[in-house]
Amino acid sequence: MAKENTEAGEPVCRVCDGRLRARVDFGSQALANALVLPGETGQEYLFRLALAMCEDCSLVQLVEEVPRGLMFRDDYPYYTSGSRFMIEHFEAWPGGCCDANSRPRTRSWSRSAPTTGSCWTWSAPPACATWGSTLQPGVRGGGGQGRAGPQRLLREVQCGGDRRGRRPGGFIYSANTFSHIPYLDSVFEGITALLKPGGVFLFEDPYLGDIVRRTSFDQIYDEHFYFFTARSARAMARHYGFELVDVEHLDVHGGEVRYTLMFQGQREPAEAVARMIAQEEAAGLHHPQTLLGFERRMQHTRRQLTDLLRSLREQGRTVMAYGATGKSTTVANYCGIGPDLVSCVVDNTRRSRGS
Ligand SMILES: [Zn+2]
Repeated sequence: MAKENTEAGEPVCRVCDGRLRARVDFGSQALANALVLPGETGQEYLFRLALAMCEDCSLVQLVEEVPRGLMFRDDYPYYTSGSRFMIEHFEAWPGGCCDANSRPRTRSWSRSAPTTGSCWTWSAPPACATWGSTLQPGVRGGGGQGRAGPQRLLREVQCGGDRRGRRPGGFIYSANTFSHIPYLDSVFEGITALLKPGGVFLFEDPYLGDIVRRTSFDQIYDEHFYFFTARSARAMARHYGFELVDVEHLDVHGGEVRYTLMFQGQREPAEAVARMIAQEEAAGLHHPQTLLGFERRMQHTRRQLTDLLRSLREQGRTVMAYGATGKSTTVANYCGIGPDLVSCVVDNTRRSRGS
């Protein structure tokens, strides 16, 4: 049963039950991709967007969870494979785990778990089978590769393996998905049931170190529930019986880290793990105070941006924006940017038009 992150009104860590500290509040926010038509704004779902750090495991997370039934539905479109940069990133990936003919380098890497559509379209070796490349019906892969949803994955986990009763997973990979899921208890239950001894669970997600360093507060919206560091990913791994055995920084999506987990006692962690954790501790990424400094810089950016937009309006200029992204939802709502400051937003997805 997934834990809730409130106990008697006091927020607690979704992984270890530690107290959450240094709440950074973005105020009342709309869901990033639940766009409404002009006449329907009164019916828009709003929630309190705030993040905080666990004082025990240092995992940064949202304080409030949006009911999962409201996200990734047919009226909450989530398009993958729209970024050429990300496609190139995934095209480059099989070089690390497959041979020149896209065959897995090891036979044990024979299955994988839900990933975003673009990752799966471009990276999945043909010899691999998958339980799903989509999270919910609203997720659209550019290559139309969605084959099965999480329901099938969960059914197979309940069986303790695949339909023949095997634990088939030598390799489970998640790209820009794992941090979306608040209820990690059940996810790790599934990974534990599916992964073979010696198997690898690998995930890549936006990195808190880059978010804090760049003050990229637009990474924070309803879909991104966790913001990992190597230190907090290691604590989470150990909590669920795994070890963080490797990390790799990636220059995509505003800065990400690819984390490699195995069952405890399977492999000594690479030096890169201790090195990244030492860098994080030197930067204070495990101190709640760091989040408060991040909040002050965020407020400064808000003042600068709104001052600039007001000044342009006073000069009689018109400002238009390109891209109705999830990230721009946080910027617009947090900074109070409406049609008076930005007259329109242009986007190439049909669902966004007119809303
Ligand atoms: Zn914790």
